[in-house]
Amino acid sequence: MCCESKRRFLLLYATQKGQAKAIAEEIWQQAGAHGFEADMHCISEMDKYNLETEEDPVVIVISTTGTGDPPDTARKFVKKIQDKTLPPDHFAHLQYGLLGLGDSEYMFFCNGGRTVDRRLQELGAQHFYDTGLADDCVGLELVVDPWIDGLWLALKEALQLQKEKEDMNNAVNPVSSSLSTAPHAVDELKLSSEVQNLKLEDEGARSSDILSQKLDGINLVAPAADTKPSLVHSVPPVSQSALNIPTLPLEYIEVEFQDNQGENPHLSSLISEGTTFEVPVTKAVQLTREDAIKTALLIELDIADTAFDYQPGDAFYVICPNNVSEVEDLLHLLGLSEKGNDLVCVTVKQGTKKKGASRPQHIPERSTLKFILTWCLEIRAIPKKAFLRALVECTSDVGEKRRLQELCSRQGASDYTHFIRDSNVCLLDLLHAFPSCKPPLSLLIEHLPKLQARSYSVSSSDLYQPGRLCFVFNVVEFPASPSRAVSRKGVCTGWLAELVAPLLHPSKNSLNTKGESSLIEKISIFPRPNNAFHLPADPSVPFIMVGPGTGISPFIGFLQHRQKLREKHTDWEFGETWLFFGCRHQDRDYLFKQVYYELRCFVENGTLTHLKVCFSRDSSTAEVAPPKYVQDILRLCAKEVARVLLKERGYFYVCGDKKHMADDVSDAVLDILSMEMEADRLEAMKVLAMLREAKRYLQDVWS
Ligand code: FAD
Repeated sequence: MCCESKRRFLLLYATQKGQAKAIAEEIWQQAGAHGFEADMHCISEMDKYNLETEEDPVVIVISTTGTGDPPDTARKFVKKIQDKTLPPDHFAHLQYGLLGLGDSEYMFFCNGGRTVDRRLQELGAQHFYDTGLADDCVGLELVVDPWIDGLWLALKEALQLQKEKEDMNNAVNPVSSSLSTAPHAVDELKLSSEVQNLKLEDEGARSSDILSQKLDGINLVAPAADTKPSLVHSVPPVSQSALNIPTLPLEYIEVEFQDNQGENPHLSSLISEGTTFEVPVTKAVQLTREDAIKTALLIELDIADTAFDYQPGDAFYVICPNNVSEVEDLLHLLGLSEKGNDLVCVTVKQGTKKKGASRPQHIPERSTLKFILTWCLEIRAIPKKAFLRALVECTSDVGEKRRLQELCSRQGASDYTHFIRDSNVCLLDLLHAFPSCKPPLSLLIEHLPKLQARSYSVSSSDLYQPGRLCFVFNVVEFPASPSRAVSRKGVCTGWLAELVAPLLHPSKNSLNTKGESSLIEKISIFPRPNNAFHLPADPSVPFIMVGPGTGISPFIGFLQHRQKLREKHTDWEFGETWLFFGCRHQDRDYLFKQVYYELRCFVENGTLTHLKVCFSRDSSTAEVAPPKYVQDILRLCAKEVARVLLKERGYFYVCGDKKHMADDVSDAVLDILSMEMEADRLEAMKVLAMLREAKRYLQDVWS
């Protein structure tokens, strides 16, 4: 417990991938400088705090996972506060501020935070500070930084008010009757942090709280106002400002190199989410023509000898490494080229002041340097401001130092957004741009996130292809930019494309008798906890599938499965099936038109009752322009869509790689519903919400 004079507050975090924890740690670290002491706990450590009796302000940082769920670590907490028997004043004594993290690319943005916030309100708790909702899609820091900046004043006011209330309670005089005004006072003191509006103009007023850097004696990288700003150059006003830069993150990792070579841990030890399976790649097919804008590949895996089990509609994870030449480049820039195969022992720095410091779970205690950089750290991650702040200390050139300070400062916020965040700059780009920056390995371990396994939707059915699992993906390509001279491919899709390149054009002697490749490459996969994106349990129910581009992938699995069920159960009744597919060009990227599998066959054998296709970039000489996008063909089939959804209790599935597509499709469905029901849009929205709730309108959308 912290003493009262230090102005204690309770700080809870609920994290899935570590971001909420990192932000809570930042708050914890800043608290000291602002005269507060944060009593920080993971929200799951329910034996270490008690909201029922908590008198000090509570700050909650909570992320969102899956389809709008609170993180796993918050499950017990959420279950506890969801208890319907709790009275509406259960938390009437509680003052709190909540920072929710989410990604607006996904449905139910920040729903983890919203759920907890809503429930605390229902139970009588009061905000002492406006809720902040930070969006990873545009940059968490856009909301997180100003939210934290505003927190200290809000806490001060809340604690002041609390003290006044206590003083009034203690005073034995008639004034106690006026206490009834206190709740209003709390309301009045609710701070308008304006985090949503991102107002930063009042920063000067708060600058005394924050480390200020004066310009004296520093040579600017871009002294002249006539140059344009860039990653490495600044122009006024930033280049001439005193800077408010974040406090230096506490170091907590120690690495020791041992020049003997050693065994690396198995990849499965890096995964805490479940069993991993190392499976051979048996086939790879390019589904698009060479002149298509994107290259789509299908990969077939042999899972026959494993316990890996899936249903059509499931997704699974692929464990992928970083690009070999990027790792080599990084080793070179860090001055560690000679040490790539050395064993590295990673421990927590003795005497570190970082609270609860521990070795990140994704870093083995002992492994080679190359293993850490290849399999453990997301070296492509966009460096956070705290990382930039730490890099300042490892940079010898004064001008470079200043620019790094600017990029993490409040004054340089828009430069950070423009030249780092929006330009997708990674550590490698920074080390090239700031050559005197030589961070130690320990700093990378402290600041780079875990290299995440990537998810893919299964594109096959175990009934149709026993012992096989297929998936389809576009090879992600990032062109060169002003911040980066080289083009790059997506970490996972670039690696997969390279891995299967020999299978795409196999020579005769590399094929076995089944026509499969004898060049065996293996990849590690593990299951992704299930969602509801499955075929209707009742086969007689009709369903509609909307899957442009690689969004068609899970529907191939649906159709294969359905075909086998039809062959096996000739006496069953099967509902009608609709597939809406779209691509750019009929003859370049129409997936499954002719290559690997022909969609037409599903139509011919009656598995697919309606196939509707559109091409967004093909020119047409027809008098009436043909539909371009899936939402356009949906509108043309309005009556049938409404019939399936409203009269026949059918299902509607949307899958694809763009949030906008999913939004456009749901807009089209709203139009269809309101037109066919002859109701206004609000009514249509209610019906769509009901369909979502009943899990009859299902989305599997990725960015
Ligand atoms: P990454 O290297 O992770 O890059 C991906 C994104 O990072 C880019 O889209 C971009 O936003 C950003 N980015 C990174 N670096 C840059 C840069 N230099 N310039 C610009 N932007 C940059 N994908 C499929 O293709 N098929 C599927 O079936 C499929 N199913 C999925 C199912 C689920 C449940 C989920 C969550 C995702 C699914 N995905 C699918 C997406 C897939 O998981 C990967 O995100 C995708 O393949 C890209 O991975 P990557 O490692 O190649 O790209």
